[in-house]
Amino acid sequence: MSLCYLNGEYLPLESACVSVLDRGFLFGDGVYEVVPAYGRRLFRLQAHLERLENSLRAIRIEPPLAPPAWQEVLEHLLECNPGEDQSVYLQVTRGTYPKRDHAFADTPMPPTLFAMSSPIPEPDPALFRDGIAAITLDDIRWAWCNVKAVTLLPNALLRQQALDAGAAEAILVRDGEALEGAASNLFLVQDGVLLTPPRSNRLLPGITRDLVLELAENAGIPVREQPVPVETLRSAEELWVTSSTREIVPVTRLDDEPVGEGHPGPLFRRLHRLYQDYKQAFRRGEVC
Ligand code: PMP
Repeated sequence: MSLCYLNGEYLPLESACVSVLDRGFLFGDGVYEVVPAYGRRLFRLQAHLERLENSLRAIRIEPPLAPPAWQEVLEHLLECNPGEDQSVYLQVTRGTYPKRDHAFADTPMPPTLFAMSSPIPEPDPALFRDGIAAITLDDIRWAWCNVKAVTLLPNALLRQQALDAGAAEAILVRDGEALEGAASNLFLVQDGVLLTPPRSNRLLPGITRDLVLELAENAGIPVREQPVPVETLRSAEELWVTSSTREIVPVTRLDDEPVGEGHPGPLFRRLHRLYQDYKQAFRRGEVC
């Protein structure tokens, strides 16, 4: 049985409960993070905790735990739960108030803190051999997509719409610009240059995105952070989506048309290798 953390206690996941008056439940009033761990070591933890703090401050919740305290909690879960490679989920909501009211109460209640972990399954080799299909959809989310809010209804609807269309991801488009996936960031290759939309309130500053940029720059691959009109997406040589749990995934079909030659491209294979090498170095403790 999996162990989780709830408000200072460790308990079996099945018996963890929060009040129906929790503002996370009533309003989706909270933020979250997903941190991968390899060899039971938390990957890019500092960057995740920094983003958590930014998300918390954006929605006016005082960070309830300092980074070392979070680290202790998450490492305890990693130790107690099965799997050398795990994905840790953590969530902070504004807490439980005596009545349902949009306005924050004058006296803040303690936030609700929750964390759990689950094993990261081995990726399906077909993913890297064949890539995935994606479709473009109108971005129906709110204006603060840089905040990792638990309010994921639009993302869930968009992802489901993609699945219903036989695709694995939705690429979100706003005002003619492709921004990111329903749960991933977006990269494309044009004339041998790696492009990704710049950071803004229209997309989540992905931790994997930053690492891919860092690895590409270190390898001397030309990289540009610039807006991506949807037409550019359609003429891309390669298209990838990135996220902490799925890493780098090649998109080989977009809206039922092949991307480039219709199979994972050479720059994907290069970055995938660099990413795997970096992970191995991390497991050995050579990078932090
Ligand atoms: N954008 C969105 C909307 C996401 O949900 C995610 C994954 N949580 C990402 C991008 C990728 O972020 P990360 O690399 O930090 O997992």
